[in-house]
Amino acid sequence: MTLPSDYHMHTPLCRHASGEPIEYAARAVALGLTEIGFSDHNPMPDDDFDDWRMRLDQLDAYVEAVGRARRQQPQLRILLALEVDFLPGCEDWVRELAGRHPWDYFIGSVHYLNREWDIDNPKKLARWDACDRWEVWSTYTDLLRQAAASGLFEIIGHCDLCKKFGHRPDRDPTPLFQPFLRTAAEQGVAIELNTAGLRKECREIYPAPSILRLAHEEGVAITFGSDAHAPEEVGADFAAALELARSVGYGETVRFEQRQRTLVPLPSAGTERSG
Ligand code: ZN
Ligand code: FE
Ligand code: FE
Ligand code: ZN
Repeated sequence: MTLPSDYHMHTPLCRHASGEPIEYAARAVALGLTEIGFSDHNPMPDDDFDDWRMRLDQLDAYVEAVGRARRQQPQLRILLALEVDFLPGCEDWVRELAGRHPWDYFIGSVHYLNREWDIDNPKKLARWDACDRWEVWSTYTDLLRQAAASGLFEIIGHCDLCKKFGHRPDRDPTPLFQPFLRTAAEQGVAIELNTAGLRKECREIYPAPSILRLAHEEGVAITFGSDAHAPEEVGADFAAALELARSVGYGETVRFEQRQRTLVPLPSAGTERSG
C-alpha cells in the first residue's frame, strides 16, 4: 500500500456529486489505492429534509451501485458506508438505517448546528454574519462530542467543518475540541483527515494541525478521506494528509470491515504518490 484507504467519497444520488461509483473505483485503481469506501449522504425519513442527499427509496440503488463497482474492480477492496448526519434526536433513525444493509462503517458528520442551519451550506453564508463565532464553534464541538458518545459511528467526519468558509473565532478554538476528542478516544471512535478543506475557502485539511495534535495526545485513531464529489478528487492531497499525520506523531491508521476496527501501520514515508 502506498497511500492510505480513501474512506470518504460520494455518488450522484446526493444531487451534488458527479460520476458513478465505477468511475471513482477506476480512479482509485489508477492511483494505486488498495481500498476505498463509499460514504454518500444518508437518506432521512422525510425526503424533504433538505436537497443534498439521496431519497430513502434510493438507498437500495446506492448499495447496488457500490456492488457494481466491486464486481468491476475485484482487485480493489470497496467498502460500503454512509456519511450520516448527526442531529440530536436522530439516533433511532440511524439505528434503523444501520440494520438495512451490511455496512462496513458509518461516518457521523455534524453539518447542522440546528435544524435550520447546515453551516457548510453556501446558500446560508449570511447567517455567519449574524452570529458569534465562538458560540457557533462551541455548539459545533459539543455536537461532535454527542456524536462520538452516541455509539452510532465508527468515524467522525471533518471535525472542524465550521472553518470551511474561514469564519474562525478570534481566540484559538483548539481547547473546545478536547471534550469531544476525549470522548472519541474512550468510545474507540476515529476521526478523519479530510482533504476537502484544501479545496474550500479555509485552504486547510480538516482538522487543523493543532486539533490533530490534541487528538493524537488523547489517543484518537485516524482515517483518511478525500470527500470526493467527483472521480478526479479520489485520493486528492493524500500525500499532504499523510505528512500531517506523521508530523503530529501518528504511525498508524485504522480500517473497518463489517463495523469492526483494525489498526494498521501508516504507509511508509517517501513511497506515496500524490493524488
Ligand atoms: Zn456532499
Ligand atoms: Fe460532510
Ligand atoms: Fe462527504
Ligand atoms: Zn462530507
